[in-house]
Amino acid sequence: MWGSLHTNEALANFQQYLSSANFSHKLRGSIKYIRAKYKAIWEMRGKGKSITEWLAPIKKGSKKLRNLMSGRGSRQYRNFTFERIKPIHSLWEKMGIVPSEGILACSMLVWNIKEADTDFRQFAFRWYQGMIHGNTVISHFGDVDRKCTFCKIKKIEELVISLGRDPDHDERALAFLTIPDENRPHIFWECPTVMVTVTFVLDKLWGIQVPEKKTFLMGKVGQNMELSSIFQLVNLFIRYKIWNYKLAGILPKPGMIVHETERFISEIFKKPDLRGQQPLLRQLALGPV
Ligand SMILES: [Zn+2]
Repeated sequence: MWGSLHTNEALANFQQYLSSANFSHKLRGSIKYIRAKYKAIWEMRGKGKSITEWLAPIKKGSKKLRNLMSGRGSRQYRNFTFERIKPIHSLWEKMGIVPSEGILACSMLVWNIKEADTDFRQFAFRWYQGMIHGNTVISHFGDVDRKCTFCKIKKIEELVISLGRDPDHDERALAFLTIPDENRPHIFWECPTVMVTVTFVLDKLWGIQVPEKKTFLMGKVGQNMELSSIFQLVNLFIRYKIWNYKLAGILPKPGMIVHETERFISEIFKKPDLRGQQPLLRQLALGPV
């Protein structure tokens, strides 16, 4: 196990802060704010209707959908684009991905999907609000090291092999100097451990050997919005699983993530109106970017 007791304590405090009443209150506040801000989109979901029911009669690229997404007819939403929302803009800017309005529109449906458990839904919400941050940002809250959790574990493993014993404090500190910061581009894509995990999982799930950055992190638009949002949800689920290993301070177990993701996908496609559509998800995953 890496890190001092002090570091873990600070991290625990931060996590406690995240789950504290004050934070929940703030989160509820943000949800309220966003609901109000995106009223047109929330209304689109209809009163008491599921996303599936709502989208069933709407075809991608149809005038009806364009009107709904643009909020046409309402002056307030005439100039609305997701890309202009600052935390969303900044998330993708940091990731080095040029946002596509169509893909971002589908991600609005991801938030409220009923198949996901509360913890994952909260992660999804925070992800799309640009609120998920690696240790580089968390380090501002307390004595948390800003360097990548996974890369440090790997480095210690290497040191143990080369030294034939556990490294001491100074040896660790010296070796950690070259470890990259745990910022979002690193912890969700560039980190060698993450890259190996994502590649393994996508290969086992779809047979994709070379994951595409924008497709994995942002998504792509398929036959309909619902399928596109499910595709985003599945990729987000993989990121969520990797993230939980990071929080636990252990290396991801790719085989386990494959198993959990497969189970998650089969749960989604158990819905009566989605039955038989799982091959479409596969097509979308394998189709052109
Ligand atoms: Zn790393």
